[in-house]
Amino acid sequence: MPRYIFVTGGVVSSLGKGVSAASLGALLQSRGYSVHVRKFDPYLNIDPGTMSPLQHGEVYVTNDGFETDLDLGYYERFLGIKLSRNDSCSGGRIYWEVLNAERRGDYLGGTVQMIPHVSNKIKEHIAIPTDTDFVICEIGGTVGDIEQKIFLESIRQFANDVGRRNVLFAHLALAPYLEQSGELKTKPTQMSVRRLLENGIQADMLFVRSPRMLTPEERAKIGMFCNLPAKNVITSMNVDNIYKIPIVYDEQDVFGIMAEHFGLPNANGDMSKFKKIEHHLNADLPTCTIGVVGKYFDVADAYKSLNEALFHASVQNNVHVKIKKIDAEHFDPSDCADVDGILIPGGFGTRGVDGKIAAAQYARENNIPFMGICLGMQVAVIEFMRNVVGDKNANSTEFAKNCTPVIDIMTECDSENMGGTLRLGAYPCEIKPGTLAEKIWGASQISERHRHRYEVNIKYKDELEKAGMIISGISPDGKLPEIIEIPSHPFFIAGQFHPEFQSSPYTGHPMFNAFIAAAKRK
Ligand code: GLN
Repeated sequence: MPRYIFVTGGVVSSLGKGVSAASLGALLQSRGYSVHVRKFDPYLNIDPGTMSPLQHGEVYVTNDGFETDLDLGYYERFLGIKLSRNDSCSGGRIYWEVLNAERRGDYLGGTVQMIPHVSNKIKEHIAIPTDTDFVICEIGGTVGDIEQKIFLESIRQFANDVGRRNVLFAHLALAPYLEQSGELKTKPTQMSVRRLLENGIQADMLFVRSPRMLTPEERAKIGMFCNLPAKNVITSMNVDNIYKIPIVYDEQDVFGIMAEHFGLPNANGDMSKFKKIEHHLNADLPTCTIGVVGKYFDVADAYKSLNEALFHASVQNNVHVKIKKIDAEHFDPSDCADVDGILIPGGFGTRGVDGKIAAAQYARENNIPFMGICLGMQVAVIEFMRNVVGDKNANSTEFAKNCTPVIDIMTECDSENMGGTLRLGAYPCEIKPGTLAEKIWGASQISERHRHRYEVNIKYKDELEKAGMIISGISPDGKLPEIIEIPSHPFFIAGQFHPEFQSSPYTGHPMFNAFIAAAKRK
């Protein structure tokens, strides 16, 4: 049986539970243990697929095509593991399953209740078998939320079921700093731990988010109020880069605390991959400016994986990357005057499309390294069709009814997904020999993740290719263009998929690595 770590948070949201959960996993991995991570989100959406990125940040997609919370991206990136639909579970999905079971007659004769029916369903999800030494479960929301209560009740029961020594409760809280008195205040943390206790859960380890390291006195005080040895009160420092967190935790012997709790030997871990990133951050290197032409800039996390992938590629290329956010709705070519590369990310809906088309044109005509992702590929094709092939009526049927449908719906509906008719998850793509794509991936077949409804219409392949835009990656059945490029341009490539979902902080992603290399050359 694996050992379980539950990560909860209190005082405020956005304390970085996901990064903390991933960092605990990284510490375990660095000592040779295998780790799996799951996210439980108390909200009532069945999955985050239909939520705007302005709500909870980007929608992350797993290989098996499940639309998940962006925290799964942290887990996959930090830990190099692949997660699935078993690893992202919302309150809505739990209730949906319970209510379906009720209609099927599974509980015939019984009264269906929060306890045991809902709590059992949550426990079932927690216990889905893995072949790892540890399962870390992050519970979304903030202690005190009405929606979260049943999840706390379930993990309390779970610990009782499997034995308290097999479960560690880690809690994140906040110690605000009051400028006037020059004090770090511990009361919110105390109150948060108390709220957890009201639900029958004693935190075994506390991560206190704070602008500076807690003093030994502060740790002792928090420990005294919260039933913990002072050493189990860890400072979760504000850092400028999330990959420093495992190092910050390691320096406070977080592994030792976990080892003691679970009765395992303490050991030193190999933190070199995080130290390498830390070293990169401090290095004096040239900076590339990448213009990202998008429309979800109001929320920091809306382009999470994309920003990560650009950062990963910067590490691989020994440059720093500065992201210039260019608002597609008010695009002006002068926005691109100082950029070394233009990237158009994915997106939905008409708003901002004209600006994205203009940005693709600017990159093409001015030999600026260009990378398009999903909608970014579609606008590059529309632009090329309009301005090079010369069909001014070219468009996507997402944006216009009566057009030359160079972008159109080509696939059957995937009715199982409530998010609608999206093509979701990993699909194979065959790469044409002798192309930039082949140079980038160094393979004849690749697998990348998708999340879109529309496709480049294969009917226009000859027209596009004759005019100089080639299809260098295509689905194995030859029907769905996956990668386009312009061989006469220094670097112009776009994919129908989202490579950012598979980028690793330790190796980058080939497409981003090549894009940043091109920007660096420029
Ligand atoms: N809106 C486009 C589609 O549905 C692109 C989606 C995306 O960029 N993820 O195909």
